[in-house]
Amino acid sequence: MQEIIERQLSAEQRMMRDTIRSFVDKDVIPFVRKNWKKEWDMVPENRPTLELLQGAHNIGVRGLCIPEEFGGTPLDPATEVQTIAMVSEEISRGDSGLADKLAQIWKVSMLLANVAPRHLQEYWFPKIAEDPSFLLSHALTEPRGASDRWLPYDVPEAMMHTKAVKKGDRWVINGRKQFITNGYDAKLYVVYATTLPGAGITKGTSSFLIPRDTKGLTVARCNETLGGRFMNNGEIVFEDCEVPEDHCLVQDIAMTRAGVYFRPGKIVVAAKNLGVGMAAFEATARYVQEYVQGGRILIKHQAVAVRIGEMITKLNAVRALLNEAIRAVEAKTHDAEGLCNQAKLFASEEIFKVCMHAVELHGGNGIMLDFGVEKFMRDASLFLHRDATVDISKFKIVKAMFPHTAGKYAGPEN
Ligand SMILES: Cc1cc2nc3c(=O)[nH]c(=O)nc-3n(C[C@H](O)[C@H](O)[C@H](O)COP(=O)(O)OP(=O)(O)OC[C@H]3O[C@@H](n4cnc5c(N)ncnc54)[C@H](O)[C@@H]3O)c2cc1C
Repeated sequence: MQEIIERQLSAEQRMMRDTIRSFVDKDVIPFVRKNWKKEWDMVPENRPTLELLQGAHNIGVRGLCIPEEFGGTPLDPATEVQTIAMVSEEISRGDSGLADKLAQIWKVSMLLANVAPRHLQEYWFPKIAEDPSFLLSHALTEPRGASDRWLPYDVPEAMMHTKAVKKGDRWVINGRKQFITNGYDAKLYVVYATTLPGAGITKGTSSFLIPRDTKGLTVARCNETLGGRFMNNGEIVFEDCEVPEDHCLVQDIAMTRAGVYFRPGKIVVAAKNLGVGMAAFEATARYVQEYVQGGRILIKHQAVAVRIGEMITKLNAVRALLNEAIRAVEAKTHDAEGLCNQAKLFASEEIFKVCMHAVELHGGNGIMLDFGVEKFMRDASLFLHRDATVDISKFKIVKAMFPHTAGKYAGPEN
């Protein structure tokens, strides 16, 4: 597989990959190992990532999807999705939470470049590009039922509870968002709210650009997650939060325009997940060739060899499906939606199993916090639930494949 990957990359992509790999090996992995206790610090400000964000900034990784004219790192549009996937995997091999932090900058920048008015792009992109601590967030999920929105279950009662009402030349937003990646640290949020109650989610939801320091926006808490702990997932409350009318990015049909975020988004999620799996495999491959038990190194035990064979087969299968999804998104084929969901789903289930093998093959060391192998399983567990759960992803695959006969998979069926 390694040879095939090399052949698929251009010279520029290989150079970028090697630079990032060296940053991950020299800076990220040692940082995470040294700071393993800080991962558990319940004061989010004490979970330090600025040093790593600065490192990512120095090698140009933060600015990947910021348009070049505003200080972003140039990418070949023909292979943009493949490059982002490659970078996501590499960073996540070092730390999944750091990859989450950076991936939100890429995905939200991609969205803003497509839907934000020109003057807002001119104002915000240079700020995002210049400041290593500038993080972005994409806030859809609310305290009740994100799955309805992912399906989407397009009926009035499943609409977002966060509402935006136009008053003169301002929008006034009230509501609450939860489980938001970078929610605790972001300086700029894209927030989805109901603007036409009763119209259903696809026809009555708008997206808004809301700076963190806007009056009425409160970061309520940092969610303490099982894995990806450097991500600082957060909850945000909006109370009579006002933005100028031009901060409405897409009025009423925001969900139908969000594919520019969601499709590459699924690729990025699957690629980050693959990075976690590759890290688990690499650590395990080293361990089983060094650690002696029963009179020989572990790999010489048949049961161990069986697990190692299974791990690498799963990882290569995930990579193959991910590559198909990438090709479909880049070629804008009609099956791109289904393939993205398949790649995300397959990665989440198979890589969780890969990480379980990694923990098992390390014996007692596998579950010791200071050893660092259990972290892979914790990080992998998050991927089962984010960007649609495993079951909702399956529904989406069937809906994309059989649009006329598939069910709604929510509410009363007709
Ligand atoms: C690490 C992490 C990061 C996240 N980052 C973000 C972010 O940046 N922005 C954002 O907006 N959101 C984010 N989320 C939220 C995420 O998208 C949701 O948690 C996810 O879609 C599930 O929604 P829910 O938690 O509301 O579960 P629910 O919708 O309440 O689902 C609960 C259970 O019921 C099942 N279920 C629900 N409806 C049906 C149905 N119709 N048929 C059968 N089963 C059903 C689900 O599969 C699940 O098992 C993040 C979540 C995590 C874990």
